Amino acid sequence: SAVTRFAPSPTGFLHIGGARTALFSYLVAKNLGGKFLLRIEDTDRERSTQEAVDAIFEGMEWLGLKSDFDSVYQTQRFDRYKEVIAQMLAAGTAYYCYATREELDAMRAEQMARKEKPRYDGRWRPEAGKTLPEPPAGVPPVVRFRNPVEGEVVLDDLIKGPIVFANTELDDLIIARADGVPTYNFCVVVDDWDMGITHVIRGDDHVNNTPRQINILKALGAEPPAYAHVSMILGADGAKLSKRHGALGVMEYRAMGFLPEALLNYLVRLGWSHGDQELFTRQEMIEKFDLSKVSSSAARFDMEKAYWVNHQYLKSVDPEVVVPEFEWHLRRMGLDPANGPSLVDVILSQRERCRTLLEMAEKSHFLYADLSGYNEKDAAKHFNADGLHALAGLYKTLKALGTWDAPTLHAAVNGFAEAEKLGLGKVAQPLRVAIVGMAVSPPIDQTLALLGRERTLARLDAAVA
Ligand code: GLU
Repeated sequence: SAVTRFAPSPTGFLHIGGARTALFSYLVAKNLGGKFLLRIEDTDRERSTQEAVDAIFEGMEWLGLKSDFDSVYQTQRFDRYKEVIAQMLAAGTAYYCYATREELDAMRAEQMARKEKPRYDGRWRPEAGKTLPEPPAGVPPVVRFRNPVEGEVVLDDLIKGPIVFANTELDDLIIARADGVPTYNFCVVVDDWDMGITHVIRGDDHVNNTPRQINILKALGAEPPAYAHVSMILGADGAKLSKRHGALGVMEYRAMGFLPEALLNYLVRLGWSHGDQELFTRQEMIEKFDLSKVSSSAARFDMEKAYWVNHQYLKSVDPEVVVPEFEWHLRRMGLDPANGPSLVDVILSQRERCRTLLEMAEKSHFLYADLSGYNEKDAAKHFNADGLHALAGLYKTLKALGTWDAPTLHAAVNGFAEAEKLGLGKVAQPLRVAIVGMAVSPPIDQTLALLGRERTLARLDAAVA
């Protein structure tokens, strides 16, 4: 059955492009009833950091892209890679090469002088009837893969279609460096083979590695997996995606107030379509995702659309689903979610007007903490003599209420405005500034109900004092 993997190199955050590749891999596995693996490709010890490993796990967990296996680290598999290298040396599909750097540089310079494409000339490659030089003393050899010299490799890419590579274009890849450390392309091959990977889904910056990897797999007697190379993501203006366009770490999207499901939904549509459907539940993504419908050209990142998708989610999902994320934002702002109204009620009142949870948390700050002051312009405009007079009257009216819920409060505020012959705005706006700190909030009756009797009266009192 199907096994896919996401194989990030831990040299930075889990960014948006990586998250999309991970999602596609995950969806292919789940769509086929198979399994999904997270593999940490940390062979480049200089550039890999524990911080980046942690960030990848954190991002994957937040997105709910769970590995079905214990995570694999390439650095823990060196013995296995060395074992396979020894087997290949014994089988003659790999060989030692003693060429020094100086020799290789000279070789390349000569090739370039002849206007040829630089490539390893096979000087240590064993051939029938060829006598190899005596290995020089004191030169630790690299191990090279004995790439076929004839024929071609056909990569039937599930996204890009068939791509043909002539074997003459591929030189004998180094699979172990002089210090014995196996090289990246080789580790990937052994891993994909050992882990029974059936579909390799990765960025198309790896297309040129694929024919080499296929040749090594064949030399090992393994059946190569299917490959799908995903095009890159460009900025809205068609330029390479940069921070300014939204090339941020996944956790930055959390901080910006995205729901993980909404971010996944935005990402799945980046290069993939299913008719004109825009919104998908996770289950629908799993059922409908199809690599053959992934575009082979680059997708463009559109921040406005990402916000739109997030807002659609906020507005439509069960508020209980939103609660943990909303709570996270409140805490992050230093607020105690227990020190105020039920989060579900707040979400229901705020979600029409908030595209992100950050916005929602900012606009709900007044419900969980004392006011730190009034918006200056709003106070200047609404705390005039009439406004303050209205607030004093409202204080008495509201204090006298036996019930504190939105319908009762609605009737009370409206009744007060009518009795005073004031437009509702002349009452509701000063009231807002007094209890919210500014003249914007959900409908006033809901705002009062959420804030509660005690806090409302205390704030009215403070405003008129
Ligand atoms: N480690 C590679 C990267 O982060 C991915 C390689 C692969 O998926 O085969 O680009």
